[in-house]
Amino acid sequence: MVQKPVVIIGAGPAGMTAASELVDRGVPVIILEKTDRVGGIARTDEYKGYRFDIGGHRFFTRVPWVMEFWKKIMGDEFLRRPRMSHIYYRKEFYSYPIKPFEALMKFGFKESSIVIASYLKAQISKRPSEETFEDYIINHFGERLFHHFFKSYTEKVWGIPTSEIRAEWAAQRIKGMTIFGMLKTALLPSSNKFTSLIEQFYYPRLGPGQMWERLREKLLASGLVTILYNSEPLILQHESGEVNRVFAKTPTGVQQFECRALVSSMPLRELMQIFSPALSDEARSAGNLLHYRDFLTVALIINKSDMFLDNWIYVHDPAVRVGRIQNFKNWSPDLVPDANTTCLGLEYFLFDTDRMWTMPDHELVNMAAQELVRIGLAKRKDIVDGCIVRMPKAYPTYDPDYERAMPVIREVLAQFKNVYPVGRNGMHKYNNQDHAMVTAKLSVENMCDGTAHDIWEVNVERVYHEQSDK
Ligand SMILES: Cc1cc2nc3c(=O)[nH]c(=O)nc-3n(C[C@H](O)[C@H](O)[C@H](O)COP(=O)(O)OP(=O)(O)OC[C@H]3O[C@@H](n4cnc5c(N)ncnc54)[C@H](O)[C@@H]3O)c2cc1C
Repeated sequence: MVQKPVVIIGAGPAGMTAASELVDRGVPVIILEKTDRVGGIARTDEYKGYRFDIGGHRFFTRVPWVMEFWKKIMGDEFLRRPRMSHIYYRKEFYSYPIKPFEALMKFGFKESSIVIASYLKAQISKRPSEETFEDYIINHFGERLFHHFFKSYTEKVWGIPTSEIRAEWAAQRIKGMTIFGMLKTALLPSSNKFTSLIEQFYYPRLGPGQMWERLREKLLASGLVTILYNSEPLILQHESGEVNRVFAKTPTGVQQFECRALVSSMPLRELMQIFSPALSDEARSAGNLLHYRDFLTVALIINKSDMFLDNWIYVHDPAVRVGRIQNFKNWSPDLVPDANTTCLGLEYFLFDTDRMWTMPDHELVNMAAQELVRIGLAKRKDIVDGCIVRMPKAYPTYDPDYERAMPVIREVLAQFKNVYPVGRNGMHKYNNQDHAMVTAKLSVENMCDGTAHDIWEVNVERVYHEQSDK
């Protein structure tokens, strides 16, 4: 008897990992991918031979299975790269992770005294609850440092005041980062193997997309996987708590697929709307409460061989709109076709309703070029070309609506026996590639091996490797 396939929505890291795990178990798979390529947010784009990420993607994980998976796919093409980053704020460059003594030197005596006094004040009279990002940071670092190093960048990223961002985001991303930790790092040589690993990271020679393109070749060679590009589900037909048929829009028209199970990495907001029979009004409304932050990269090509050593620079300075600047040749020299030139990615966090989202590409290139000149990193005459990549729904937002929506969504989805939400937007969780992959792996184990992992716990309990940066 022919086995029904598992339908996977999305060919990003989560969807591709689920496919790989299913292939290992001999299960046929159909992947519906909305765009024309694999990799999702972790893809690599190309313009005139210049390759670049949607945000620089470090390959770092504390999960040994993930690291083995990556190494097996990439072999010799998995480079180990040094990490260097700075914060640009009020015409100064500060090391990141922040070096307390260097920062105090740059602040000068008067400002340093205010910073220390404000930290001590926060320790003596802590805010009683740590509900928001602002509460959390002020309690841990003091109000003055909050203003210098957290507020403006975080508001650029999220587009809302830090007093409206849930502390959960800070706890997930900044966990373990304390003033004492920073002082210890500054005074003592690195004793922690993870700390030292953060100073380096793995990176595919041709960018993150190379990882997922290689996995695609392996999956297709198995003969068990079909990937339909420019395709998306329209209706998920279900009965007795199981999705058994998917109607999808494909380049050759609407197609229907009988399925054994559904793995979804598409945004939860949209998933909740396409079940048939329709989910309850409450469930669909809960989906509509989820919000996102969108992301736009202006890749600028500059006639200069060496510009700066950082992989990226955080631009906290509120005088310019750009939030972060990537220098792709410092990620891998092979991302740039001509070593006499440099490709910088100027990253803007925005909403797709902002005017910038629909601005013509040449205007965006011009605007980004002007900002780069204003920061003092390039001369206008050296900036010779540029292109734009827009990434909708790059960041799932943790706001009060999300807190109200998620319990409803989780309860409704739990009633389906064969629906597996995975990944970043697929679970509306701030997952990096590794955790997106782990949710896919554990879901396949639940589906095929009879385990009962709680995938919602992935990236909740484990102390995260990272500090506030992506
Ligand atoms: C700026 C930035 C920097 C980052 N840096 C890092 C980093 O340094 N290291 C790291 O590990 N991670 C990083 N990440 C996170 C990483 O990109 C994600 O964790 C990872 O891509 C999540 O994989 P995913 O498969 O869950 O989702 P995605 O990558 O979003 O993939 C989902 C896929 O589903 C497709 N899709 C969506 N809707 C539909 C639909 N209706 N029908 C069919 N297909 C659909 C999309 O086109 C996409 O291909 C970064 C993210 C951002 C935004």
